[in-house]
Amino acid sequence: MAEAEAAADTAHVLVFPVPAQGHLNSFLHFSTGLLRAGLHVTFLHTDHNLRRLGAAAAASPRLRFLSVPDGLPDDVPRTVDSIPRLVLSLTTTGAAAYRDLLASLRRGAAGGATAADGFPPVTCVVADGIMQFAWDIAEELGVPAIAFRTASAGSFLAFLSVPKLIELGELPFPDGGGDLDEPVHGVPGMESFLRRRDLPSQCRSLTETHQDPLLKAVVAATVHCRKARALILNTTASLEGPSLAHLVKEMRDVFAVGPLHAMSPAPAVATSLWRHDDRCMAWLDGKADKSVVYISLGSLTVISHEQFTEFLRGLIAAAYPVLWVLRPDMLGASQDAALQEALAAVGEDKALVVPWAPQRDVLRHRAVGCFLTHSGWNSTLEAVVEGVPMVCWPFFADQQINSRFVGAVWRNGLDMKDVCERGVVEKTVREAMESDEVRSSARAQAEQVERDIADGGSSAMEFKRLVGFIRELSS
Ligand code: UDP
Repeated sequence: MAEAEAAADTAHVLVFPVPAQGHLNSFLHFSTGLLRAGLHVTFLHTDHNLRRLGAAAAASPRLRFLSVPDGLPDDVPRTVDSIPRLVLSLTTTGAAAYRDLLASLRRGAAGGATAADGFPPVTCVVADGIMQFAWDIAEELGVPAIAFRTASAGSFLAFLSVPKLIELGELPFPDGGGDLDEPVHGVPGMESFLRRRDLPSQCRSLTETHQDPLLKAVVAATVHCRKARALILNTTASLEGPSLAHLVKEMRDVFAVGPLHAMSPAPAVATSLWRHDDRCMAWLDGKADKSVVYISLGSLTVISHEQFTEFLRGLIAAAYPVLWVLRPDMLGASQDAALQEALAAVGEDKALVVPWAPQRDVLRHRAVGCFLTHSGWNSTLEAVVEGVPMVCWPFFADQQINSRFVGAVWRNGLDMKDVCERGVVEKTVREAMESDEVRSSARAQAEQVERDIADGGSSAMEFKRLVGFIRELSS
């Protein structure tokens, strides 16, 4: 057996993502890369998600799925509104179960000898970069732990800079946030383009006496990442070189290994919490090249009926065919009526509305002309890889900063930011569909990213270095 393979047999990584779709996807692609390198992977879900995935989460020879409770009742919808509760219950109920499980799987534990299923003891933990408890507990148990933050390097840097922004008096916004177009100076490398409205959304509600609990938790976890053995980011030097250069000075080590989904085109198993609607691809086949607007606001976003209506009017005025993802939990009680309204207004021949789409395949389809997105990091990377221009309608957390990079730095799309008015929707969608400049920036960037992930490219090399690092920690 080759030396690398022998080492691989004993390196066993337990990966533990936040139980939300975007995080699961990044961790799955990451795990696929580890499997390819010969390592063993235990993928830790929550009981709720593992139940939802069912047979889709079938294990393979070096990959298994285990789960811990997330502490929430099963019928609580896992949308953005429940995220603070979910994170809190994970750090209590979830953390206790995780500690017990890891204690039994680690090297040196009674049950930690090679298990009946052939899995060696866990030698390293890669836990979500906003679940600091997961890597603290691992280190307490003697298992080296790495943080994997599934958001962009730019948003990570912004969260890391929040204490400094407070110190500088840039936060809370001095005039109560009055002018959101005011520049922000305290995030290194972003002085020339960052405005108040581009900071993580929760910064807006910050006052002298009140800090959004989720912002507090994310900032604390971000700062705490300095203690992890290393920080992994699903990004690439060509997209986020300046932010990465700042982070390298702050963290023990940084690995920029993305876009992971493009580096592992065939993931080991499925992690989609919703079932893809099978009609999408055939419907797209019937449309002309670059004629369709694909709309998806990710797995967590909830919109109001007013937003939906305004948005719909803008789309009707823009008059392109649309493939629209309206998740069943996206609009609350008015969902069905809204769906009928959308179909009637756009015209059944020009619109396909689905609960969930095979997004990567959709973005790759020749008929898609632009992607109207909430600017979640996975969606952003998926559009970048396919060279599809974006219209950004960000909602929360890192989405504001991602959309600013799209509109002002990479120029591969347009940033609607906080304005969802029918006129703005119509104008930005038209521009994204028709601007040669935006399309050629998107194409050039896709070509660069393809070089980054190819053999010898920066992300491919970083992934190799990371595997070497994990093997060293595991030896
Ligand atoms: N996604 C999908 N089908 C859909 C909508 C979204 O497969 O109809 C996937 C999308 O490809 C992405 C993930 O769900 O990988 C959403 O992650 P992102 O970070 O963009 O947003 P979040 O859901 O975390 O807000």
